[in-house]
Amino acid sequence: MSQTPSFIFSVQSPLTNPHLNADLHNHTIASDGKHTAAEVVAFAAANNTTLLALTDHDTTDALAEAAIAASHAGIAFVPGVEISVTWRGHTIHIVGLGIDAANPVLMAGLASIRSGRIDRAKLMGNDFAKMGLPGVFEGAMSEAPRPEMIGRTHFARHLVKRGVVKDMGAAFSRFLTTGKVGYVEHDWASLENALRWIAEAGGVPVLAHPGRYKMTSEALTALVRDFKMLGGIAIEVVTGSHTPQQFGIFSRMAREYGFEASRGADFHAVGESPYLPGTLPPLPESLTPVWHRWPALTHASTH
Ligand code: AMP
Ligand code: MN
Ligand code: MN
Ligand code: MN
Repeated sequence: MSQTPSFIFSVQSPLTNPHLNADLHNHTIASDGKHTAAEVVAFAAANNTTLLALTDHDTTDALAEAAIAASHAGIAFVPGVEISVTWRGHTIHIVGLGIDAANPVLMAGLASIRSGRIDRAKLMGNDFAKMGLPGVFEGAMSEAPRPEMIGRTHFARHLVKRGVVKDMGAAFSRFLTTGKVGYVEHDWASLENALRWIAEAGGVPVLAHPGRYKMTSEALTALVRDFKMLGGIAIEVVTGSHTPQQFGIFSRMAREYGFEASRGADFHAVGESPYLPGTLPPLPESLTPVWHRWPALTHASTH
């Protein structure tokens, strides 16, 4: 008992401040970002971020370094992860916030989905070779600081460097998305397992960038219902890949389904990502920010 209920209630309002500069979705070189954890924290600090989460794909390797850097920078830190999920044949992403990165169930689950990445990348390389572009697997691997984390972003960076496409967006739209020649279907975690691993690790499950999924509105509704039924708590409303119109669409969705709202740049690299950590627009009013769950982290930095 370190806090009395009256203290908690007395600071309730500032804790749910939708204007807190919280940025709860960011990547490092541990997955497909281009910067170290310390660099990401420095970007966040330069933009007056008060609450920061790192959420690398399927790994927690950068969290310890980030926690130390954030503490030096005076930024409250939330350990996170972004889990790759296959739901009804679609790849979707579930962010887990406030996880215990030492939890063995989460660790084993993440290891199980990381293990398929190199074989998948070899198959992608074979497809590029067949269309007359040899050496793409090797080129993508040379972009990946950690071979086991090889992913489509590393392929995109290689294709841009090689002059095959003019930018990352073109690499994805021409080659690296469903139905295109360089795209290989892959089985990631089930939605059930991703939510179970996050729950085991004491984390809060957040549906990442719902505006990015290329599915019918009926399928998106079914996804959101499944997520809710399996214990989903929050959805990303303000995130780097959403348009201002989508901020509104997903605010309404959060209210309709009783989800809390998250805000995160999904930052990967300077020059690639539309927003640096801490530079997104604020959450719309009248949503419950997911960061109300970490009062001890947010109350000192609310202003
Ligand atoms: P993977 O985990 O290998 O399937 O790669 C997924 C990653 O590709 C995402 O986390 C994004 O970083 C990146 N990505 C997906 N679509 C796009 C896009 N249209 N433009 C830029 N990056 C993208
Ligand atoms: Mn990524
Ligand atoms: Mn994602
Ligand atoms: Mn991400």
